[in-house]
Amino acid sequence: MTCTHILGFPRIGAHRELKFAQEAFWRGEADEAYLRGAAATLRARHWEAQRAAGLAFVAVGDFAYYDQMLGMSALLGALPRRFGFDSAKLTLTQYYELARGNAAQPAMEMTKWFDTNYHYLVPELASDTCFDGGVDWFFEEVDEALALGLPVKPVLIGPVTYLRLAKSHEAGFDSLALLPRLVERYVRIIDVLKARGVQWVQIDEPALCLELEEQWLQAFSTAYQALGVRGVNVLLATYFETAAEHAARITALPIHGVHIDLVRAPDQLNAWCEALPDTMVLSAGVIDGRNVWRADLRAIAQALRPVHAALGERLWIAASCSLLHVPVSLSAERKLDGEIKSWLAFATEKLDEIRTVGVALDEPLAAESLLAQADAARASRRTSSAVVNALVQKRTAAATDAMAARQRPFAQRNRLQREALQLPPLPTTTIGSFPQTPAIRHARAAYKRGEMKALDYLERMRAEIELAIRRQEALDIDVLVHGEAERNDMVEYFGEQLWGYAFTENGWVQSYGSRCVKPPIIYGDVYRPEPMTVETAKYAQSLTRRPVKGMLTGPVTMLQWSFVRDDQPRAETALQLALAIRDEVLDLEKAGIRIVQIDEPAFREGLPLRRSDWPEYLEWAARMFRMTAGGVADETQIHTHMCYSEFNDILPAIASMDADVITIETSRSAMELLDGFGAFAYPNEIGPGVYDIHSPRVPTMEAIERLLARACEVIPPERLWVNPDCGLKTRDWPETEAALSNMVRAAKRLREHVAALA
Ligand code: GLN
Ligand code: ZN
Repeated sequence: MTCTHILGFPRIGAHRELKFAQEAFWRGEADEAYLRGAAATLRARHWEAQRAAGLAFVAVGDFAYYDQMLGMSALLGALPRRFGFDSAKLTLTQYYELARGNAAQPAMEMTKWFDTNYHYLVPELASDTCFDGGVDWFFEEVDEALALGLPVKPVLIGPVTYLRLAKSHEAGFDSLALLPRLVERYVRIIDVLKARGVQWVQIDEPALCLELEEQWLQAFSTAYQALGVRGVNVLLATYFETAAEHAARITALPIHGVHIDLVRAPDQLNAWCEALPDTMVLSAGVIDGRNVWRADLRAIAQALRPVHAALGERLWIAASCSLLHVPVSLSAERKLDGEIKSWLAFATEKLDEIRTVGVALDEPLAAESLLAQADAARASRRTSSAVVNALVQKRTAAATDAMAARQRPFAQRNRLQREALQLPPLPTTTIGSFPQTPAIRHARAAYKRGEMKALDYLERMRAEIELAIRRQEALDIDVLVHGEAERNDMVEYFGEQLWGYAFTENGWVQSYGSRCVKPPIIYGDVYRPEPMTVETAKYAQSLTRRPVKGMLTGPVTMLQWSFVRDDQPRAETALQLALAIRDEVLDLEKAGIRIVQIDEPAFREGLPLRRSDWPEYLEWAARMFRMTAGGVADETQIHTHMCYSEFNDILPAIASMDADVITIETSRSAMELLDGFGAFAYPNEIGPGVYDIHSPRVPTMEAIERLLARACEVIPPERLWVNPDCGLKTRDWPETEAALSNMVRAAKRLREHVAALA
């Protein structure tokens, strides 16, 4: 019988039970026993789902109280030394201090897990880290599953990936120098599993899919020559990209199986089949672990049939990667349109899909009715009037490159805009949102529940807008914003007004720790039935003589933070989004709005894993932005905003977006920005964030002035804007007003300097 399994299951719970238990524990409202109990319940439930679906194994070790990488650090006994914790006696409270910081130490650094929206805690190592000690939680989970009589396949993050993602504060630190000691530790872990009678261990090495230098490739050989010979079968799991070019090297190692991602990289199948010795298993990741659509099970089974004929039981069936990146279950969706729901598969439903592929290979007839169901769902999706919109299709087909260009080059536009806007040098502005007070959130919730009438809600929002305008005038800010009181989320707000978008009630995906996001689902052609922000912008502008920025979310971010349909190329969907937002930009302009900001905070997130694929992505993403912005008159000023600081390596692409003004996050790493500008002269105007909005600290005028003075050394002052580094929705009004007042005073002081120099 064909072996079926998954690499991991979402740990957060269908109703975010883990989140709520964690947060209760943090607030001191629940004790450790409660949290551990809640965690055990979730684990048991998720294993039971895998067993009930008929999978050959259940994945154990994919659970984490906060993050799987932190879990690995705790298991390996590799905690950041600065906390002074005894790694063998780590408590759950200390574990959370590592993740969230304590009075004495900032939290461990967090960063994105490959190209997903999941964030892990970066291991913090030193050249004398020796990987002794460590907690037994992982083994306890293995025992827990064994005690339930389940077929256990423990899951670990592999030593090479662990080292590749680790950092050190030591200058000249060589992480590979730790490999021998780390491998020793993994050997001991595998020996413990062997003593438990475990037969297979899955060791995740997504790092194999990166572009690796020879010494890192060599590290795989070193590590697995040791790990493969301990008497437990090792399944080396790769995902998110192809690893085909390493097939010969990896299959020569004394391991027992390889998992490959055939959703992201279907072309690698042949290379692995050819290299595979007849002692080795190939785990085919055919069900998409990164998206929510029902699979074309018949096509998958068809494609695997020759492989199955050749490999027999050495072919395993799995999801492409851990199911961590999709919501838990469709059964929690009661409001979702039935037709759309029939096209979807979340983690729980994907278990059945995996199993069905297995059955289809073993006994095609037995799987026929399930395959027919899948066919029917896909057929209904292909022909549904909810998906296809002839108008949109016609427009995207007619879109030309010329639409993606402004009429005149920046220098000429800039002159026109200066005349039209009459701003002082070093103009001040903010990024868009003002504090989302409890009153605003309550009003929005009441309106959504139908407890507040539309007109009353409109009045409330207008009152908030007026308040924001008056406060900005009092602060003497030059370019105003309406404050985004009406927006809960910068993608959801637009998605709800566009056709082609669906929203779930419980489609939560863990982003980090207890934080989850609920990405909308783009299922059909994206169409803007009517203007989305024009009335709000018009109202805000009517209150003041100062320019108010129109505020939109860009196409790349709309795409990046959604589950995107897989029945047409991603670029096609992006173009539909770009055209819809372009119409909004033009409507704003028509309504008298002179500055439009199109936020692209996720621009960088879309970068492919392999650097050699970057140029193509960047060219495309910048073009999508220009398609959105390119229709306006040259007098209309286009702004964009991005909220990360490392963008020095993509500066040319950012310049090619040709926004008249870009505001970016820099306050936490001012020096880095300046370095970048040494090498590449950004041609248009720029507002490097002059203070960090993520911290409640109110910046002093002097600190802001110093930062601005430094920025003036690399950016010509006539191209410099003054603004915070992101939106202010998470802050409260008193600190916001204090910070902005210091910011405006700093700008005014510097203006005098600049004038004196001129
Ligand atoms: N305009 C948005 C805001 O100010 C931008 C948010 C973001 O950059 N993520 O909230
Ligand atoms: Zn931002």
